[in-house]
Amino acid sequence: MKLFIKNIGRLYTPLKALPFGKIKEILNCSILIEDGRISGIYENGSSLPQAGEVIDAGGRTVLPGFVDAHTHPVFWATREQEFIMRIQGKSYEEIAEAGGGIRNSVRKFREAGKQAIKEVTAKRIAKFPEFGVTTIEAKSGYGLSTEDEIKSLEIINELNDEQPLDMVPTFLGAHEVPDEYQNNRRGYIDLLKYEMIPLVSERKLARYCDVFCEKGVFTVDESREILRTALDHGLKLRVHADELSPFGGAELAAELKAATADHLVQASQEGIEQMAEAGVVPVLLPGTTFYLRKDVYAPARKMIDAGCQIALSTDFNPGSSVTQNLQLIWTIGALKMGLLPNEMLWAATLIPAVSLDLDDSIGSIEAGKQADLVILDIPNLDYLAYHYGINHTFMTIKSGQVIYKA
Ligand SMILES: [Zn+2]
Repeated sequence: MKLFIKNIGRLYTPLKALPFGKIKEILNCSILIEDGRISGIYENGSSLPQAGEVIDAGGRTVLPGFVDAHTHPVFWATREQEFIMRIQGKSYEEIAEAGGGIRNSVRKFREAGKQAIKEVTAKRIAKFPEFGVTTIEAKSGYGLSTEDEIKSLEIINELNDEQPLDMVPTFLGAHEVPDEYQNNRRGYIDLLKYEMIPLVSERKLARYCDVFCEKGVFTVDESREILRTALDHGLKLRVHADELSPFGGAELAAELKAATADHLVQASQEGIEQMAEAGVVPVLLPGTTFYLRKDVYAPARKMIDAGCQIALSTDFNPGSSVTQNLQLIWTIGALKMGLLPNEMLWAATLIPAVSLDLDDSIGSIEAGKQADLVILDIPNLDYLAYHYGINHTFMTIKSGQVIYKA
């Protein structure tokens, strides 16, 4: 099965051989795809191979398919009433205390049937390829009981098999302490350690384990205990860290050599340096900061200067960031964190792929890699964040198959 994409105006890609932020740009080229993999990039004037199906890119721009390394797509009820409370000045913590927040999502999730949740989740994740995303990490975390967390992870695994977007499952049973354990935190941590994590591991329902390490949620010591249990059961680690207060989450992620530490709005300089040393990928979620009406954004420049390779993600979830539009996140990343387009290309493709241990097959445009590509109706890379709030995708290609066309 051959596919030929001709008449590409500009192709941009990060490459492992280049330093973070330096990208390769090829003008006027074509890509040959065979059996779902990139077999060659042909610059203008080189003799072109005979091929089967042909796509005319019409002089548009081609990038690697985007990889969104932090999403919470498996939920039931939406929470627009809380959005209104936030407009009226209530904080995230105040909304949680008024019965909103994650525990609100949990109550609704437990009442809904698996098939119904799966259907709404399928509709939500179908939006990602529309914005050029070809792989997402997907977390559980709105069940918070053994039965409901398994339900959530089964939905992710089933949808991964049934539709073209690749989904990497993460177990986030430690998203919150559920209502019934509010006076028995120890009981919930034991449930995570002795029942949920062993079962998730045994049934191979997740590749990663995540913990919401934050004031009022799980302490650093509790998070360490849960994450070490996950490591013992063969799961790799991601950590919700230092979002709302400087809490030692970045340091914990470095200590445990987690794949990622995510949010990091309040990460300390020491934590940043330790993450750089340990090779932890900071996953930055400026859409969440924007949506929570906060003024202080994650110190992305300090992280890059310290030698971290950052990822940029939507944090798609029903409370604090309700968007699948990673292109919009580029604009927020640019304006609020001072990130440049070259850096954001790395942060939305190769580095999130590294964070998911998928960088051998996706995240850049190179011969031999899986043909995950997005064709954008933009004249150059700088234009993507500049013309904001709209969808620039012309076509999204996953393993050589067209999965979205404008
Ligand atoms: Zn999150």
